[in-house]
Amino acid sequence: MRLIDERDTTFSRMALVEGSDRYREYYGRYPELEARDREVRNVPMTGPLSRMKPDACFDDVPDRLAAIEHFVDGNVAMLFASMEMVEKAPVSTRKIAIAPDEITPIIKKVALYYGADIVGIVKMQDEHFYTHCGRSMGGEYGEPVDKSLRYAIVLAVEMNKEMINRAPHIDEILATDRGYRDIALAGCGLAIYLKSIGYRAFLNTFGSYSAPLVRLARDAGLGQIGRHGMLVTTKYGSRVRLGAVMTDLPLLLDEQIDFGLLDFCMRCDICATSCIGNAISKGQAIDDDGQIRWGFEDASCMEVWKRVGTDCGICLACCPFSHNVQEDLINSIKGNSAVIDRIIADSHMRLGKRPKPKPIHGVR
Ligand code: SF4
Ligand code: SF4
Repeated sequence: MRLIDERDTTFSRMALVEGSDRYREYYGRYPELEARDREVRNVPMTGPLSRMKPDACFDDVPDRLAAIEHFVDGNVAMLFASMEMVEKAPVSTRKIAIAPDEITPIIKKVALYYGADIVGIVKMQDEHFYTHCGRSMGGEYGEPVDKSLRYAIVLAVEMNKEMINRAPHIDEILATDRGYRDIALAGCGLAIYLKSIGYRAFLNTFGSYSAPLVRLARDAGLGQIGRHGMLVTTKYGSRVRLGAVMTDLPLLLDEQIDFGLLDFCMRCDICATSCIGNAISKGQAIDDDGQIRWGFEDASCMEVWKRVGTDCGICLACCPFSHNVQEDLINSIKGNSAVIDRIIADSHMRLGKRPKPKPIHGVR
């Protein structure tokens, strides 16, 4: 599996300041990325609200836009405060000795009790971690990532379907914002619990990462990775927000699942044809160091985010699995193109086809 350096992520690259040592060092290594990254970096951030139509939820809030802006800002402040609280909480010196088969079901129950909708556990290999810190609060830029906590309890929370369906409008970013809050609260509860029984814990979410979450979630058995590069779960599709709690408490592991998504995405290109940034490959999958995936233009996706003023989310809204495909159909996807075509046709019938996206100004 290809190693991932957090400095290569779009967020880290967009944060580079032209003329700085860090900038020179990075684009000295990757000169081919500089021109396109500069173009996207220079697109002014439209702001989450200024281009949004106040037409959906929270209609009863007077001065709705201002209210929502404070809502999002307040949530972000609360997230950072919660994560800091977890980091500072001491690990109890009264360590409980308990076998993995006894503690694992308890840990899963604690995670669900605190608000997770899906939980899985994976033993972290070196390739699960970022190689180096790129933007996280957890470490200095360019430092090797701390790999000392090897068990990851991976959590997913559902995001509101009606709000996600309004992507790329403001309702989508509110659902995302709520998803981050829910995952952080579940993760904080679980991390504090682990510390209280004498084990270390690190909450890996929202700006504080030692490992990319989509791979972790796949390897913990939460779902598979789709054409759009995100997790697809059988229950909520891509309408999930992810987080993980890393710990040194030995736990029983979950296995990857395979409900046939690879076959499905080979026949379905709804996310790719709906993407207003042309960021998702409409072509064949590629073998990336043993991982089958589709090409993705991360800078083009980021440009859309900056121009529309939300984190877009069209690709996760339009994925058929985000609309509760019947369980018996999901169970018969593997090797069955007739079932795949039926689900795709049903999705078009229920949701309609998004109009062919007009290129938005500046996006290639
Ligand atoms: S978030 Fe929007 S721009 Fe980015 S890949 Fe998805 S649909 Fe395309
Ligand atoms: S929209 Fe279709 S192609 Fe894209 S991830 Fe979902 S199932 Fe796969």
